[in-house]
Amino acid sequence: MTAKIRLYVDQPLGQGQTVPLDRDQAHYLFGVMRQGVGDLVALFNGRDGEWQAEIRQAGKRGGELICLSQSRPLQMPPDLWLLFAPIKKARTDFIVEKAAEMGAARILPVQTDFTNAERIRQDRLQAHAIEAAEQCGGTFVPLVEDLQPLGRVLDAWPGDRQLMFCDEAQVGARRGLAGAARGPWAILIGPEGGFSEAERSRLSALPFAHVVSLGPRILRADTAAVAAMTLWQQALGDWAAEERP
Ligand code: SAH
Repeated sequence: MTAKIRLYVDQPLGQGQTVPLDRDQAHYLFGVMRQGVGDLVALFNGRDGEWQAEIRQAGKRGGELICLSQSRPLQMPPDLWLLFAPIKKARTDFIVEKAAEMGAARILPVQTDFTNAERIRQDRLQAHAIEAAEQCGGTFVPLVEDLQPLGRVLDAWPGDRQLMFCDEAQVGARRGLAGAARGPWAILIGPEGGFSEAERSRLSALPFAHVVSLGPRILRADTAAVAAMTLWQQALGDWAAEERP
């Protein structure tokens, strides 16, 4: 028998390791999901893969599990960052959730010239990434960074990381990822208002930037994020891994 419920925990996981549950986790497992002593739960912490664990104690305010065996090794996503300008709350949540499902390794909300949001709830967005990983069978959880100005992120850019700059000014152009090399990458998606001319000229001139079009229509930022990750995964990411030597 394998567990139906997957739960993210902070604690280390390993053979015979006991895992204490906090109040919220206990409420979820025993109150909401109606699990009890002897039932199996799949645990992951983003580092040690997925473990089948048995419930040893179940209480209102806590509980304890014990790890029995590893059911999946840690599977790292490709080294892909998603940079995006936060938009309305529900759409920002959507972007973070999809980035975790699609296999981004790190999520960086960035403030651009036309970004409306002044702040984000980093903790809430991180919780969305965890939920997405629980749901999609992931064993890794991407880190969601706090909001930073795009200029500052570019100032500190690691020179070996290529950037897929999705520029709405390229709408309808034939500019994709053909010929691009594998390695560390990032995708950049702008806000509803798009990029300013100053940003566009700085970004286009960066030696590590690839200016890309996402087809003949202007996509909303949340759609654009998913479309860009799909293109990248297909061309350079782990979707294509098995076909290549
Ligand atoms: N208001 C802008 C559109 C912004 S769309 C305008 O009307 O021009 C939000 C973001 O999605 C853009 O900044 C870009 O990163 C991405 N995007 C949407 N459609 C795109 C396309 N066809 N090609 C490249 N990027 C696109």
